[in-house]
Amino acid sequence: MSEPDSRIAALLNGAPEDSVHARVVHTLAETGAMSAADLARTTGLARSTISTALTDLRKSGVVVSAQHEGAKGVGRPAQTLTLNPEAGTCIGIHLSIDSIGLVVADVSHSFVFEQTLHLRRDYAPAEALALLRDAVPQAYRRNGLPMSGLLGAGISVSGPVTPDGVILQASILPRWAGVNVREVFAPALGVPLFADNESNCAAMAEMMWGAAQGHSEFVLFKIDLGVGGAIVHGGRILTGAAGGAGEFGHMTVDPNGPLCRCGNRGCLERYAAFDEPLDQLSRVQGRRVTFPEAIRLARQGDVGAQRLIHDCAVAAGRGLASIGTVLNPPLILIGGKLALADELVLGPLIDTYERHTLIKAATVPQARRTRIRRGRFTDKDSLLGAVGLVLRGRGRL
Ligand SMILES: [Zn+2]
Repeated sequence: MSEPDSRIAALLNGAPEDSVHARVVHTLAETGAMSAADLARTTGLARSTISTALTDLRKSGVVVSAQHEGAKGVGRPAQTLTLNPEAGTCIGIHLSIDSIGLVVADVSHSFVFEQTLHLRRDYAPAEALALLRDAVPQAYRRNGLPMSGLLGAGISVSGPVTPDGVILQASILPRWAGVNVREVFAPALGVPLFADNESNCAAMAEMMWGAAQGHSEFVLFKIDLGVGGAIVHGGRILTGAAGGAGEFGHMTVDPNGPLCRCGNRGCLERYAAFDEPLDQLSRVQGRRVTFPEAIRLARQGDVGAQRLIHDCAVAAGRGLASIGTVLNPPLILIGGKLALADELVLGPLIDTYERHTLIKAATVPQARRTRIRRGRFTDKDSLLGAVGLVLRGRGRL
């Protein structure tokens, strides 16, 4: 391991409070790029203190100017600093129902590689592990990256994850229930591991690179084959006591309603998710209709597709209205693949939210209104957010 690699790893693996150097490295890892003046403002340290640390960190190759030939970021103002992208990389892994998303990013927040690894449905942890054990070194070789620069791996899971890394409910990947993520992946990857549920990862991606940049208070609501969510307060994603915070899809809407995959009855997900509507649409069309096709059909005027999207949006809006009444958040981001329907989903969702939530937009000044808009990443959000876990040192196992 060359010197900048090992120094970045040592500083990131320690606490930000350990030294001024550690503070600078952690802050740059979180933000990607910053000027010395912004570093001083963000850390609350004196300019002279920051400047002394930066001189040393630049000399050892840990910090470089964003114009450095290795820095791939574009359009950054002069004097912007980043961690040396040649000295540190991290990987993001998203475990889906029949595939695994893999992404490699460097410490200057440039994404250098992305791949989807296909498996059979309901694959076992050992199968995922075997695949990743080959795919990760291959990805590094293909991109000319040294494995020695790998700083950590973030793992996005479709289900609540305890702070120790145990997957509590894994109805999308039933064989993963009760599995400890650390025990599965640590021996093969040999780097610090970070894990969280997919909606929390999605919120992380929106906060770092997407529609929630600069926002420290917001709610994410995902409408996909299931319904998920995340609550961000004071710039931190709430996890709850056992990792189950923000599971909006499992709020009871009707105690006598249909059975949910979680074991309860009448959960919001049974009305607002788009899995059953896709089945219904497929039946009517006489062929398997995918998410993008359903949205395209609705846009082309197919009344059935429009109706199904509208009904999901209304159910989501009603559920969100309760969340709004409890949290009164300044910003709600709609994520998941149904968000790609834009106005078709946002229109009825916002109308329904307004009808049922306590604080109505019309009754408060503009600046106090809850803004509801589409997230930036509707599909890859969890995968990108898994990288964010490593860069922000969140969910470490
Ligand atoms: Zn449920």
